[in-house]
Amino acid sequence: MVSGKCSEQPNRYEESTVRLTRKVFTRGVVLCLALALVWALAAPAAAASLRTLRTPPIFIPPPPVNDREPLLPPLQAQIVEYEVRSGDTIWDIASAFGTDPDSLAIINEMSNANRLQPGQLLRVLNMPGLLYRVDPGDEVADIADAYGINSEDILAVNFIRSGDDLTVGQEIILPYARPAREAVLAARGELWLWPVSGRITSFFGPRWGSFHTGIDISAPTGTPVAASRGGRVVFAGWRGSYGNLVIVDHRDGKTTWYAHLSRFAVGTGAWVERGQTLGFVGSTGRSTGPHVHLEIRVHDQPQNPLNFLP
Ligand SMILES: [Zn+2]
Repeated sequence: MVSGKCSEQPNRYEESTVRLTRKVFTRGVVLCLALALVWALAAPAAAASLRTLRTPPIFIPPPPVNDREPLLPPLQAQIVEYEVRSGDTIWDIASAFGTDPDSLAIINEMSNANRLQPGQLLRVLNMPGLLYRVDPGDEVADIADAYGINSEDILAVNFIRSGDDLTVGQEIILPYARPAREAVLAARGELWLWPVSGRITSFFGPRWGSFHTGIDISAPTGTPVAASRGGRVVFAGWRGSYGNLVIVDHRDGKTTWYAHLSRFAVGTGAWVERGQTLGFVGSTGRSTGPHVHLEIRVHDQPQNPLNFLP
């Protein structure tokens, strides 16, 4: 009997434990439901506020993997994604994130930083600097030298232990790296220029069973034709259906061709500035009226000029 009573005690205890557990469980379920409801109501609002500025960044530097501290305190540099809103300018966005407009434009491979589109997604580095994709054989010291910055800053900002720890294809932040002048001009939309202003009467692409290798810009005879970019005149003369043609070499694998000119203002071998007059609009060669046929070639392959012009 005693043993029976003794055995009942734990049973009652167990029952009360079960009841307590049930109570706790029920409360837990209610709490969870309440939390889920709050989350369901709050989530769309949170999502809306995150639509313009989304973190974590695309590039997350890995944490230090050893017991040794980075040589310099990490600057907490990171890339965040930003969705352009109506009325935003490149200057607004750059200053809001503590970077500069040129860095921002170049990182996003812009061809005209003045033409932001609402809804456009930008990658924004939260400090002045550039991004760099590691090529085979790259060493931190060489990259630092090429951009005139400090190796230790590169290591610290990217949480890289040593210069040997680079991975090919890895994207690293180059803190305070200054872009090349040409890159700045290209990103600002100030590298290329329309040779004349006028209506495009024929676009790049297939035309009448052949392929139109440039664009035709209509302009009155005698209108000055400006160099789209600075460079060296490598041809100024007559060339078949092009008529009077000027070719300018921009020394980065690109050339611009200006055809059907009535007269020349430069000769072969001349160095020209962007905007300098090369010649004048005409209708020489195979042409049905006064216009400039403009070609932009990359490694001698004609490209669509509209991909370059501002
Ligand atoms: Zn043409």
